[in-house]
Amino acid sequence: MNNPLLHPEPLPAFPNIRPEHIEPAMREVLAESRAQVEKLATTATPTFATVIEPLEELHHHLTRVWSPVGHLNAVVNSEPLRASYNACLPLLSEYHTDLTQSEPLYRAYQTIAEREGAQLGVAQRSVIEHALRDFRLAGVGLDEERKQRFKTVMLELSQLQSKFDENVLDATNAWTHHVADAGELRGLNEQLIEQARRRAHEQRREGWVFTLDQPTYTAVVTDAESEPLRRVFYEAWSTRASERGPMAGKWDNSPVMENILRLRHEAARLLDFSNYAEYALATRMARSVPEVLEFLQDLARAAKPAAEAEFAELETFAGRKLNAWDVGFYTEALQRKRFSVSQEELRRYFPLPRVLAGLFETAERLFGIRIHERGGVPVWHSDVRFFELESASRQPIGSFYLDACARPHKRSGAWMDECVGRKRLHSGSALPVAYLVCNFLPAGEGHPAQLTHDDVVTLFHEFGHGLHHLLTRVDYPSVAGINGVAWDAVELPSQFFENYAWNPEVLKRISSHAETGEPLPADMQSQLMATRSFHAGLQTMRQLEFALFDFRIHAQYRPERGGRIAETLAEVRNEVSVAPAPEWNRFAHSFGHIFAGGYAAGYYSYKWAEVLAADAFEAFEETGVFHRGTAQRFVDSILSRGGSRDPLDAFVEFRGRKPDVRALLRQHGIDSGEVAV
Ligand SMILES: [Zn+2]
Repeated sequence: MNNPLLHPEPLPAFPNIRPEHIEPAMREVLAESRAQVEKLATTATPTFATVIEPLEELHHHLTRVWSPVGHLNAVVNSEPLRASYNACLPLLSEYHTDLTQSEPLYRAYQTIAEREGAQLGVAQRSVIEHALRDFRLAGVGLDEERKQRFKTVMLELSQLQSKFDENVLDATNAWTHHVADAGELRGLNEQLIEQARRRAHEQRREGWVFTLDQPTYTAVVTDAESEPLRRVFYEAWSTRASERGPMAGKWDNSPVMENILRLRHEAARLLDFSNYAEYALATRMARSVPEVLEFLQDLARAAKPAAEAEFAELETFAGRKLNAWDVGFYTEALQRKRFSVSQEELRRYFPLPRVLAGLFETAERLFGIRIHERGGVPVWHSDVRFFELESASRQPIGSFYLDACARPHKRSGAWMDECVGRKRLHSGSALPVAYLVCNFLPAGEGHPAQLTHDDVVTLFHEFGHGLHHLLTRVDYPSVAGINGVAWDAVELPSQFFENYAWNPEVLKRISSHAETGEPLPADMQSQLMATRSFHAGLQTMRQLEFALFDFRIHAQYRPERGGRIAETLAEVRNEVSVAPAPEWNRFAHSFGHIFAGGYAAGYYSYKWAEVLAADAFEAFEETGVFHRGTAQRFVDSILSRGGSRDPLDAFVEFRGRKPDVRALLRQHGIDSGEVAV
């Protein structure tokens, strides 16, 4: 069988890839890689050139074969594709575990570090340091008994985390709400009401039946004029998978959470960390537990007065004391009253071709690059476009696919991912290729896709990630582009680039009215700008509540007293909550980010990276936001360096000092008088 996945160069032959190609290709590549790894691990005199470079090449090749598979599964999903994709996941995970727990390989890296360390370049040393760190974090150095225990703990954790998700999902799916009185539905949009009516009809009931999915929940608590309806939904939502609320005790995550915290702590202790937060920080930019806690507390101190003022104003506007289930509703109403410009209205001004032209122009101006479209490249759908980046002297830099609009069988959300990573090795070179994926409303009759301003910000965000991947100058795949970048620093380029979507000059260039061709008028522009910091204080405090709760339960865990989940949440709320939350709220029981996903002891990363981005952008504001010299320094110190250097060193080189939280507060329009530097 001529398997297109096994010939991934120069670009994947997307139209020829079939589900039946996937598992055979992956089995073949993984078997070859295993054989090679085994040989390399026992090389008599290991050197960077004879062991690490070939391993980097293997890593590059494996990613190159697998990347189109994961990508297709996300953008043109089908049952057979999903089955083939899932069949490969355990194969890959086993390969990675065996690699990071291989003692001979670990020893080879150690030998190379000792013998050659001093002569190697910065990127090469990072490759070795990252690898040694990952070996240790996988438990390679432990004695047999502890190693075995570590493996068991990790396996149990993955099962518990998955159980946590299942409980939330089952609890969410199990709840419905029947409405008999049409008056209860006032404020809800037609589409939602129609769906509920059809559901009732299917169940042979009168009236309307609502489910508890995220869009429905959000719509009810922001739009429903009926307070009892909002309350019913709020209670069901905020007690999911817990011992409280309408489904009390069914799918209760309490024991699951307790066990997850206990096992995470045990895993950390096996590797000699004091707690799981410390273990998690081993791969992050933030250095220590106190540093993260202080960072969050500083922000909370500064944002709290603004949040309190916003909340007081909201209650004045509502003319009453607000309950938790009222906040979304009155916030929406206040926003509508204050800003006459709506996202839907803005669509007429942001046709996709115009936005892209203005976006590329902005990047070209800043970074001295050229971006042009190339036709005839094989793609997975006729909507997809392909663009190439060149330097000013017309040297190729990299390229990217753009899949901008929503369609059936495409995963929701927006993201940037690696198709091909940059490498320059003795075995060959490759330029980076990225996927930029969004889910904008598709083109309509006689007009191209029209974006809301939220969409525009999303596009700039993903393009920022894309620049990080494409402008890299690192030669070794494991630390090139976004690879090997600390979790809490990876959102720096994306959040940084969002700022340009709010710049008046850029707004002028990316907007063009559907009929008149006029750019966004000045009054609409200033209305739009004003929405940026609306309720920034309240939003900041809410994020900080999640972040502090997450970090504390991981940092302060003691086996003898258990997780103290409810107590910790109460303490955090006591310090930082501004909007009310009833005693029976059990949001932690469905907080998948930290109990099921990769944000454990890492929720703070959102705010952390936001500070880096805001502070970096202030450097641009100081010199003029289109200053070529500043942009070049940003590329040289940060964007081009990938994971090849310490993110704090990189930031300090660019900014001349450490990051300052006050930059973010200024961006949010919050007075930062109370923050000590
Ligand atoms: Zn992002």
